[in-house]
Amino acid sequence: MIEELLRQAVNQLKDYLPGKNPDQPGMVKLASNENPFGPSPLALKAIAKEAKLCQRYPDQKAIVLREALANQYDLKTDNFIIGNGSDEIMQLIAATFLRPGEEVIISENTFSVYEFVARLFDGRAVLVPLRNLCQDLGALAAAVTPRTKLIFICNPHNPTGSSFSAAELDTFLANVPTGVLVVLDEAYAEFAEEKNFPDSLTVIKNYPNVIVLRTFSKAYGLAGLRVGYGFAQPEIIRYLTRVKLPFNVNSLAQAAAAAALGDKRFLAKTLKNNSDGKKYLYGELQELGFNYKKTEANFVFIDLKKPADDLFMALLKQGVIIRPLNSFGLPEAVRVSIGTKEQNKKFVAVLQRQSSIL
Ligand SMILES: *Cc1c(COP(=O)(O)O)cnc(C)c1O
Repeated sequence: MIEELLRQAVNQLKDYLPGKNPDQPGMVKLASNENPFGPSPLALKAIAKEAKLCQRYPDQKAIVLREALANQYDLKTDNFIIGNGSDEIMQLIAATFLRPGEEVIISENTFSVYEFVARLFDGRAVLVPLRNLCQDLGALAAAVTPRTKLIFICNPHNPTGSSFSAAELDTFLANVPTGVLVVLDEAYAEFAEEKNFPDSLTVIKNYPNVIVLRTFSKAYGLAGLRVGYGFAQPEIIRYLTRVKLPFNVNSLAQAAAAAALGDKRFLAKTLKNNSDGKKYLYGELQELGFNYKKTEANFVFIDLKKPADDLFMALLKQGVIIRPLNSFGLPEAVRVSIGTKEQNKKFVAVLQRQSSIL
């Protein structure tokens, strides 16, 4: 009965499949690329202070946080929009710009929210295969037609950890017509160590059709508070801001994010741990004969070349939660977040014990 009332697009939406949360104390969650150190201590302090004022509506314009970002990146406050997670900004972009039937170009085997927002707003998702587990920028640009409105790209890429260089991005953007908006999702950019990784600040200056998205959910450890941001030329930001709900980001999240942004020590500790952790995991995975992929993010992609659910279940029984990639269309692969030293060791130890099913 109710089903008949639905918009057609809603009828066809798929549920999001999140990483599993621990259901017993002592379990190690390496499934959602969260910060293994928890939130920044400065963010916790800011939350406690702000909590006393939570009878008030939050700042609709998130001025304190946008000023902090503008200072950090040497841009203007009107270059920034704050979202309830960067997910919300993806939805805002589609709500603001996508007309029914217009095409949204997306890589296959990639973060599912891009396709979700495309479908939600009656767009047509055009899926382009990965090439050697990397986004195929040439094929993405070649897929543009007169009906294309949006392209989503992700750097570093979730779930493979691959990245493209500044030169590759530049060639791609030069090939995309200016009437097509490019969303450059940099949720993991803080972790990138590749020296030719693009500088997205210069990208938005050279290409007014680009919107860059970043988040406080990963390197800054605030996934549960839901706060992400976008930066672009002010005109784009102005229209996105018009479409967002007035109080989309709560006051605790705004205060925590501004404090976390200023916590250089916490970020440095997080990045050092990630860099050390990935080298440790490379060595151990190599020794165990796994086919892993080098990463520019805070997770490692492993191609098992057999259904991944068995390994997922076996590790789960021993208290380690990893992410099987069925929902990414990669049923024979897993993604493992890089944890603390102790968490990584536990993962490796339980993996070794699984040799019977390898
Ligand atoms: C985690 C992640 C995000 C961040 O989402 P939030 O809504 O900011 O928590 C965005 N894009 C990708 C590819 C991600 O993996």
